Amino acid sequence: LNPVPTDIEISRAQTPKPVAQLAEEIGLLPEELEAYGRNKAKVQLSLLDRLHSQPDGKYVLVAGITPTPFGEGKTTVTVGLVQALSAHLKLNSFACLRQPSQGPTFGVKGGAAGGGYAQVIPMEEFNLHLTGDIHAITAANNLLAAAIDARMLHEATQSDKSLFNRLVPSVYGVRKFSPIQISRLRRLGIDKTDPASLTPEEVSSFVRLDFDPSQITWQRVVDTNDRFLRKITVGQASTEKGQIRETGFDIAVASEIMAILALADSLKDMKNRLARIVVGSSRSGEPVTAEDLGVSGALAVLMKDAIKPTLMQTLEGTPVFVHAGPFANIAHGSSSVLADKLALKLVGQDGYVVTEAGFGADIGMEKFFNIKCRASGLRPNVMVLVATVRALKMHGGGPNVSAGAPLPKEYIDENLSLVAGGCHSNLKKQIQNAHLFGVPVVVALNVFKTDTQAEIDLVCQLAKECGASDAVPCRHWSQGGRGSLELAMAVKEAAGRPTNFQFLYNTEMPILEKIRTIAQKVYGAEDIDLSPEASSKIDYYNQQGYGSLPICMAKTHLSLSHMPDKKGTPTGFVLPIRDVRASVGAGFIFPLVGMMSTMPGLPTRPCFYDIDLDPETEEIIGLF
Ligand code: ADP
Ligand code: MG
Repeated sequence: LNPVPTDIEISRAQTPKPVAQLAEEIGLLPEELEAYGRNKAKVQLSLLDRLHSQPDGKYVLVAGITPTPFGEGKTTVTVGLVQALSAHLKLNSFACLRQPSQGPTFGVKGGAAGGGYAQVIPMEEFNLHLTGDIHAITAANNLLAAAIDARMLHEATQSDKSLFNRLVPSVYGVRKFSPIQISRLRRLGIDKTDPASLTPEEVSSFVRLDFDPSQITWQRVVDTNDRFLRKITVGQASTEKGQIRETGFDIAVASEIMAILALADSLKDMKNRLARIVVGSSRSGEPVTAEDLGVSGALAVLMKDAIKPTLMQTLEGTPVFVHAGPFANIAHGSSSVLADKLALKLVGQDGYVVTEAGFGADIGMEKFFNIKCRASGLRPNVMVLVATVRALKMHGGGPNVSAGAPLPKEYIDENLSLVAGGCHSNLKKQIQNAHLFGVPVVVALNVFKTDTQAEIDLVCQLAKECGASDAVPCRHWSQGGRGSLELAMAVKEAAGRPTNFQFLYNTEMPILEKIRTIAQKVYGAEDIDLSPEASSKIDYYNQQGYGSLPICMAKTHLSLSHMPDKKGTPTGFVLPIRDVRASVGAGFIFPLVGMMSTMPGLPTRPCFYDIDLDPETEEIIGLF
């Protein structure tokens, strides 16, 4: 239709087929499905065993050039591409997408189900509670937070003996360690299983985690943009006996537990990662883990359903897995390893799995390859690099664009020299970045209605000159899968070529060298500059044995550099590393380049102003 109706109108105009029917079409057995209502279902992980000997399909990553603040359409390209592959080329295909946080849905950006005629439906179910995974993460995260403060209170107010008697209670006169306690004793170097045989010193080191309150890194989370929780004081009631400390909230999707969900490849692996979470350190500088607190088994219990991907469908009835949605700045920003693995088996050898990496390719793609592919063992066949005329004009020297303000006229009228400037700078660099990993690139130009034919032709020509295997215009937003047919054919052609995938760095390299490699090779920095704090953290992590973890850079996505207003391909800059942190459970070190907010705020007129419910029809209005 012209003009294209709103996202929610399009979504509502199409009745999804029952999820049980979709499941049957893609080869799932009824017992492998756990329906949540009519339109969505979780899929059991036992499917991986059943399809164990089935060869994997082709693995396609969708990433983007450095975006404008509006987003350039990676999700819509992902959905448009699978619609074209499945519904039009009749090839099995699956999209694997992140579950969006409710923060942006009610805040600034809106939902993340795609848009126009390239959407996951029903979009309101996708954007709201889905199957409760984010609620499960919130519950697990906050149980761990409560465990920390309660333990500090008990240690502050009880003797060694009293703590021991409570932690290892006597049942009918018999005192026994639990398996989790025996594993803590081993880590303390105490090789005993009889509680009566511990010396008083051993009892003391066993019962006291002895938190250094200033070194607790674990925060509470909530899935709302509630900026007033960024810094809070806890323990102010008299019942907490003066155990007052400052802490804060992050948005739920920034929880390390979300990153763990996205990287785990089995229930066992998830449980081990949860146990390894480091929440702070003791006064003697030793890391304290979720397992030390005795809570890791309970966390796994809270997460046992969240680990199963949720099956939904596109507007054209093709299958989609929605699973996990880690923050793309302090975490790696891709959907789950398990969803990709299941989908690759389900589509079979000739099929395609298309998944998205958050932010620009310098961040999303780099982390997808170096962190996610390293964890999963999966190897990509093709990268689709999404570009828009407006973002290319911005990189070619166009005036600044900001969210909320109207686009300057250069972005609406034809301007071939700005487009060419963007192709020769940011687009070219991001193509080269994919080539660092040995992955072929197909450029997908996401066409907007203001783009002229001459601009479209120029981008496609220059993208090929800059090294892309192919470059095609995509009109999925206004036409659905039909508008992405050319892209589907280009991807099929590129996926048939042999790949030569390689990681950018070996994890055994020193932390500093890994950071420098990413900064120089991917961002184009001259060098890096470590703050004294970052430097001492690196020493500490090396000492603790975390030196061989991969790196998850926390950098702005609005520039290849650390300066959001430097567009194109900035050169001659030194990348400042303000601090370095570790997500030991998820399994990465994250250097902070500048300030990263892990709790967004609400603007003056948030999305929720337009969201409403019609009580007569139960229809949701204004979600996009
Ligand atoms: P990303 O995944 O890169 O953040 P999305 O695919 O979510 O981007 O798209 C961002 C927003 O832009 C969505 O609201 C989407 O509907 C809209 N959009 C994407 N492509 C087009 C297009 N070609 N024309 C108009 N709007 C579009
Ligand atoms: Mg997206």
